[in-house]
Amino acid sequence: MKTSIATVSVSGELPEKLEAIARAGFDGVEIFENDFLAFDGSPADVGRMARDLGLVITLFQPFRDFEGMPDTLRSRTFDRAERKFDIMQELGTDMVLVCSNVSQAALGGLDRAAADFRELGERAAKRGLKVGYEALAWGRYVNDHRDAWEIVRRADHENVGLILDSFHSLSRKIDITSIRSIPKEKIFIVQLADAPLIDMDLLYWSRHFRNMPGEGDLPVTEFTEAVASTGYDGFFSLEIFNDQFRGGSTRAIAADGHRSLIYLADQIRRKVETPIGIEMPARAEVKGVGFIEFATDDEEAVELVGILQALGFRKAAVHRSKKVTLFQQGDIRILINVDPEGFANAAYAVHGTFAYAVALVVEDATEAYARALALDAEPFTQAVVEGELQLPAIRGVGGGLIYLIDDKSPLGRFSEIDFLPVAEEGEEGDAKHAGDAGLLHVDHIAQTVAYDEMLTWLLFYTSIFETRKTPMIDIIDPSGVVRSQVIENQSGTLRITMNGAENRRTLAGHFMAEKFGSGIQHLAFSTDDIFATAAALRTKGFKPLPISPNYYDDVEARFGLEPELTERLKAENILYDRDGEGEYFQLYSGTYGEGFFFEVVERRAYRGYGAPNAIFRIAALKKQMRPEGIPRDAG
Ligand code: MG
Ligand code: MG
Repeated sequence: MKTSIATVSVSGELPEKLEAIARAGFDGVEIFENDFLAFDGSPADVGRMARDLGLVITLFQPFRDFEGMPDTLRSRTFDRAERKFDIMQELGTDMVLVCSNVSQAALGGLDRAAADFRELGERAAKRGLKVGYEALAWGRYVNDHRDAWEIVRRADHENVGLILDSFHSLSRKIDITSIRSIPKEKIFIVQLADAPLIDMDLLYWSRHFRNMPGEGDLPVTEFTEAVASTGYDGFFSLEIFNDQFRGGSTRAIAADGHRSLIYLADQIRRKVETPIGIEMPARAEVKGVGFIEFATDDEEAVELVGILQALGFRKAAVHRSKKVTLFQQGDIRILINVDPEGFANAAYAVHGTFAYAVALVVEDATEAYARALALDAEPFTQAVVEGELQLPAIRGVGGGLIYLIDDKSPLGRFSEIDFLPVAEEGEEGDAKHAGDAGLLHVDHIAQTVAYDEMLTWLLFYTSIFETRKTPMIDIIDPSGVVRSQVIENQSGTLRITMNGAENRRTLAGHFMAEKFGSGIQHLAFSTDDIFATAAALRTKGFKPLPISPNYYDDVEARFGLEPELTERLKAENILYDRDGEGEYFQLYSGTYGEGFFFEVVERRAYRGYGAPNAIFRIAALKKQMRPEGIPRDAG
């Protein structure tokens, strides 16, 4: 795919934008007139800057209110066009985007518009330039790509073609099969944008809420498939108007944009015969979580290990060459890394104790790694001792790591190859450490990220791994709103909840601001008998998060629970939720450090994450943290 992005899509000054766009790997850039008016250099300077960075200027835009002007305004409109042509020649681009007329003065009529475009095509041809016509969703007479195409067809000029924009067509729910019959040489460029489904004025929606393909809810893939079916193999250009992106990191937004196009092209390549898209393995099926690794030091490890033991984990193995201990229960493996060398230690030095790495078990780690790199993921390697495994790894949320392992290669046997088993531990006769608590698997991994990083990680996970997203929901923290988004696979072997915090007074915001930065804030383990697990945990000295008695009155009334069940839930501080026939039981630990905690869940045909309980859980956690944790004004 030939990739391009409009300068308006990213934040910053024009030179910074161009640099970020080139660095992200784009082939081309659309220059927005405003960007260029705000810049001190000449059009020729801008053109040189782009070319020095290896970027083609795919087009110059916008040229507004052109077609169908009454005779009194017509010649002035063509004069304006000639001035745009001058700038284009200085810039070194051969295409201008003309968007459909929104002027009150405009006259309708396809033939009149076609005649105007024919003349504009003549004038452009004299200078070796091209004119692309785009139907704005709110155009006065032309607001449908089918009408724009009819005008281009009637203009019948080699230098006049159509510009398709997914937002304009999809926001108005225009039948996209109509694109399939357009000759590919008449499609001059294709602009792409997605958007969340929001019922609002089209212009406002377009100007503020567009996002990258795959980040929103519009059928951009189907749109692009229709374009590809024409044989079109020109530029696909992102044109994203988004307030959050304009305030975000220039580089991160450009990188997301590039990833979104590579991912989109790969989806199309799997559906239709097309030259767009590069060979890469399919999205990786995640079969489970191989391990979760904490970076800490000897001193802080003591408390963390104490919590793990109270949760029923036992020390199972030690690393052959590093100070890493493996704790296990059921399928769950937790590594505690206190090695003074290496990345874990560097991560610890910056963030303090935290779960910095997750290993995902995939069908084929080599393939998953290749796909991740094809989608611009940042690879990670560090030296390993001879005979030990080099696990393929990429950078994940908060600079943490995602290791990729599989069962078909030696990678899946990392705990035998890199680790030495240890005999069952625990002081003799100490029942506290004997037996486990019935924890079986990692149920979900909850990551807290800055609100403006949520779409980045959503795209990261969904493009690399076989996952889907569920609609974003708002969780009410007593001190503000936390946005929550779930990324999960069909089988439930990978479940990630991502919480985006906007302010530091929320529990999620506090977690990020005070110590860790973005990262894993809680880990949920599954059991198939929550009450047996709760009883076992009690004998091990596990301290559950105390839940307000008022919660139980409420939950009993809400779901019509038997008082006997309510009493059992209350006695064990277990939260309860239901969706349809499904039932969910949740038990939390207290917080550790700056707000990390563990959760134990039992699912009975339940698919969600207990969102209605979050407010009670957050309130309880904050109450517990307040004495030495969150300052008083932090609610
Ligand atoms: Mg557009
Ligand atoms: Mg949870």
